[in-house]
Amino acid sequence: MDWRIPLSDLDYGQEEEAAVHKVLRSGWLTMGEVTQAFEHEFAQYLGAKHAIAVSNGTAALHLACLSLGLGKGDEVILPALTFVATANAILYTGATPVFADIESEEDLTISPDSIEARINDKTRAIMVMHYAGYACDMPRIRELAEKNNLVIIEDAAHAIGAEMDNNKLGLWGDVACFSFFSNKNLITGEGGMVVTDNDEIAEKIRILRSHGMTTVTWDRHKGHAWSYDVVELGYNYRLDEIRSALGRVQLGKLEENNARRRSLTTHYRELFQELVPLVTVPFENHPGISSHHIMPILLPRGSDRNAMMESMKSEGIQTSIHYPPINSFLRYNSYNNSVDLPKTEDIAGREVTLPLFPTLDDSEVEIVVQAVWKSLQSV
Ligand SMILES: *Cc1c(COP(=O)(O)O)cnc(C)c1O
Repeated sequence: MDWRIPLSDLDYGQEEEAAVHKVLRSGWLTMGEVTQAFEHEFAQYLGAKHAIAVSNGTAALHLACLSLGLGKGDEVILPALTFVATANAILYTGATPVFADIESEEDLTISPDSIEARINDKTRAIMVMHYAGYACDMPRIRELAEKNNLVIIEDAAHAIGAEMDNNKLGLWGDVACFSFFSNKNLITGEGGMVVTDNDEIAEKIRILRSHGMTTVTWDRHKGHAWSYDVVELGYNYRLDEIRSALGRVQLGKLEENNARRRSLTTHYRELFQELVPLVTVPFENHPGISSHHIMPILLPRGSDRNAMMESMKSEGIQTSIHYPPINSFLRYNSYNNSVDLPKTEDIAGREVTLPLFPTLDDSEVEIVVQAVWKSLQSV
């Protein structure tokens, strides 16, 4: 479908093209100098000790879980309101996902009270997800983790460049995971990054990323190593040089693009307040600085969301849902504790995500809000 206004769009140009051409001419295609430079720049940007590039955000989450030793018999508390990959990564290790509720209809991040209510003898970890780039209540979640001897994984796929208390998201737990998928704030097509300050965890992730081997091809190419040992059951979760080159260019644009997303979000908020006050725009006075990854709104209770989204479609405007709660999926039925997720249930049927990306125009925001207004007249 050729959307008049798509949900998200790339900010790609000559710089990205030039960076890819340079890799093509270099004669080295995977995990070499460019990937090392991307990792170094990413770690510096966040203020983290280690950044390890991987093939996608899901691989990042899987390696994060493995590096912390999660496995059979362990319970991991996570929000039900996140992308399914957050929970899949837990299941890959044999551990059990335990779904927690959100804070409120204003704050769609995981509720510390709900986390606390689910902690028991089997709980090993808390996996938070900074919804739309707005920070979870990390000070309280850290307190809970310390008190109960739990590790924290941040699914920071939405949150590149976001902050809380002058500290970037991704620095608040033991390990953090980023995604560079085609609709994220920093885009390489497929790609991801694991971030940690812990040397041991970082070393483990580096080894697991490449078949459990103690050296990588690049070291052998450079003449630093002749052979290797295999010390873990590893994976091939490597990132290649072309994507790393794209990542470096995109990292350079990130601050400006996040600022543009912020300004568009403010514009949306003002217009909704003025023209469609029945619609709830969450995160109005949220602490910290968001990366404004997506633009979620909540329709009034009782409205027909499908009809609303159909109406938006007829105007050529793409919308989406973030997210159908994971516990509602067939594969996750046996982990279904939805009776305990009243707030998630309340908003899950009302959430609609509107177009938001750095190259969106202010005038297009006005068109979208007008279309929302119109769609709610007819449904
Ligand atoms: C995109 C995303 C992922 C998965 O990242 P991929 O790179 O697509 O594997 C995980 N969690 C959340 C919250 C995401 O938005």
